[in-house]
Amino acid sequence: MIFFANIIIDISQAKLDKTFQYRIPEELLSGIHPGVKVSVPFGSGNRTIHGYVLEVTDKPEFDTEKIKEILSVEEEGVEISGQLIALAAWMRKNYGGTMNQALKTVIPVKQKEKLKVRRSLKLLLSQEEAAEVLSSYEKKHSRARARLLRELMEHPEIDYDIVIHKLNITSAVIKALEGQKVLSVEIRQVYRNPVAHLKSRGYDIVLNGFQREAVNEVLSHMEEGQGFTYLLHGVTGSGKTEVYMELIAHVISRGKAAIMLIPEIALTYQTVMRFYDRFGERVSILNSKMSPGERYDQFLRAKQGEIDIMIGPRSALFTPFANLGLIIIDEEHENSYKSETVPRYHARETAIKRGEMAGASVVLGSATPSLESYYRAKQGEFKLLTLKQRVKEKPLPICHIVDLREELKAGNRSILSRKLKELMEERLRKKQQIMLFLNRRGISGFVSCRSCGEVIKCPHCDVSLSLHRNNKLVCHYCGYETKAPKICPLCSSKYISGFKAGTQKIEELVGGCFPKARILRMDFDTTRKKGSYEAILSAFSAGEADILIGTQMIVKGHDFPNVTLVGILAADMSMYVSDYTAGERTFQLLTQAAGRAGRGSLPGEVVIQTYNPGHYAIKTAQKQDYEAFYQEEITYRKMMHYPPVYHMLLVIFTSEEESAAIQASIRFSNVIKKAAIENLQMIGPAGAPVAKVKDIYRQVIYLKHPEYESLVALKDRMELFIKEKQDMEQVGITFDFDPAGGI
Ligand code: ADP
Ligand code: ZN
Ligand code: ZN
Repeated sequence: MIFFANIIIDISQAKLDKTFQYRIPEELLSGIHPGVKVSVPFGSGNRTIHGYVLEVTDKPEFDTEKIKEILSVEEEGVEISGQLIALAAWMRKNYGGTMNQALKTVIPVKQKEKLKVRRSLKLLLSQEEAAEVLSSYEKKHSRARARLLRELMEHPEIDYDIVIHKLNITSAVIKALEGQKVLSVEIRQVYRNPVAHLKSRGYDIVLNGFQREAVNEVLSHMEEGQGFTYLLHGVTGSGKTEVYMELIAHVISRGKAAIMLIPEIALTYQTVMRFYDRFGERVSILNSKMSPGERYDQFLRAKQGEIDIMIGPRSALFTPFANLGLIIIDEEHENSYKSETVPRYHARETAIKRGEMAGASVVLGSATPSLESYYRAKQGEFKLLTLKQRVKEKPLPICHIVDLREELKAGNRSILSRKLKELMEERLRKKQQIMLFLNRRGISGFVSCRSCGEVIKCPHCDVSLSLHRNNKLVCHYCGYETKAPKICPLCSSKYISGFKAGTQKIEELVGGCFPKARILRMDFDTTRKKGSYEAILSAFSAGEADILIGTQMIVKGHDFPNVTLVGILAADMSMYVSDYTAGERTFQLLTQAAGRAGRGSLPGEVVIQTYNPGHYAIKTAQKQDYEAFYQEEITYRKMMHYPPVYHMLLVIFTSEEESAAIQASIRFSNVIKKAAIENLQMIGPAGAPVAKVKDIYRQVIYLKHPEYESLVALKDRMELFIKEKQDMEQVGITFDFDPAGGI
């Protein structure tokens, strides 16, 4: 058989789909696969140029007589571009989609934007002068000016973009201070030498025993030239970030580079500055607000070796470091590491693959590891590193559980339990701060009984039903439907209803209880404007409010030393969302919300309000006992054949014509049945949880199998079916492996 290779000539162009086909000479066949660099004759003059192999196929695209041959395989080591192309090919294979979609994910496209200069702010005053000016700002209540000046007194030179994006200072404020000769805006050249900078700051943290042990284990493997995947488990404040930094310092001292992924919401000013303080100019950050051009610039700097450390969300994983030594994924349990667009890759898996290609170590860190990672660590696939206690030996907060059914019995129908209200009064009196946390995930509306706590569930799936319009209850897993009951099927109470309290409503209620308290609210509505998220956090941090009410957004990010009370208003709201990860999400949210209390010198208290005080996710969160939680949860996953014990593949069929989507899903279910894969479980086809979005109908099939590879093989088969039939243009088909949450 004759094979052909589709080759891309210039990956810096936007038209990544422009490929050229060449014939593969037999003697080269074994060395040709996606990512390999080859020499080919090009154009009418047949000059020799380089290209990268994207795909190998036995199907010629045009007259085979006219297809030229590949000249040779370039042996000179795998180039970074080749590695990223190979990674894209792996992603396409494992997550579905087209090669072009995969390439666009890993290779940033060059834009015709002019290079932006990097600017920084430099303090022009001595500390004494600055202190004087600061007190004058404070007297005039010029909060933004004071905030900026205070930061400049800490760090005499700060990156302009960081000030704008992370410190939430407007360019007008900067101009004003520039006008007053407090600061100057400079084309950035400082911190060229991180060592000199280090000296000026002094880096004096000495790792404790647990941290040292974790660092040493990774380093000893590195020295032996082995890259493993590690799971670093340690409660918040146990010093994980210091461990990351120590590892990074080692890696760059060996002339290698490091990537650190961090959820965007946790990429706060404080975190960024910690890295700048230690590594200076050699660090760069990525964020989603950057234009493709800015992103490209950052990648270019990495490629040219101007930086060694890239910090950013998911996409930072594709930073083209030529000599990558380490990938860190902080808060590895976060859902944001799973892409929601095709290819629907998971950054954890993809990082492990990239690490393998580059010979780099991968460190996953979390206070509440994903079930998946902990399971794999227990299986010996990842190496488990544990930080057993908080660095400063601060005790964990005292945690009270309030049974909301008892509150109702006692005649309290308020959103605040008596215990929480009492503690709030006390905190307000002592001028300490309070955070009230509402679990937003549940707001989509499960139906529960306010008397006995009963939640209406699907009879087939062990997940709660969601309230849809017309009082219909729908299972988001199997499509089961029923009418919402008017009285509780368990206790016949008429207090049964969809639970829909939003943050705004809670703000009103709390304001009614405590008319004198200053309240800030943080949710989807109040943070839609650019910079408002940071603005609310810094206002609360500066003591401009007594109570912060919010969704899970407030769980992460800043440390508020003056917060000594955290109230979790309805802890179980996330427990009944129609999703097998509900218990895991609840545990994570509760543990992290509780971790917000008592970060400073004052001890903290937590009140968890729940209808379900006996649930293991709540009981184990109260004790911050991850191991106990894991044991319960993994037993449930084993029993139900859910990930990580089994793997899932969700196939989504979309079409403007409902019948077309349904027909396609039925045809595919037949293809799947014919494949006769042992141990495969198929659920559906059925209507998707949200069966119609913007007039597009959606059908789904869920597949479960213990082996990921079997699902990949099945996906390949379905892709082949699509190619061969060629009569399904009307229907979009998307694959989603181990879907995180609903669709
Ligand atoms: P985590 O990332 O696990 O939440 P951090 O690394 O942020 O923990 O550490 C929490 C706090 O303790 C930080 O202020 C950090 O600077 C400090 N810290 C960490 N390790 C040490 C140490 N060995 N000695 C002194 N302070 C430390
Ligand atoms: Zn009831
Ligand atoms: Zn169901």
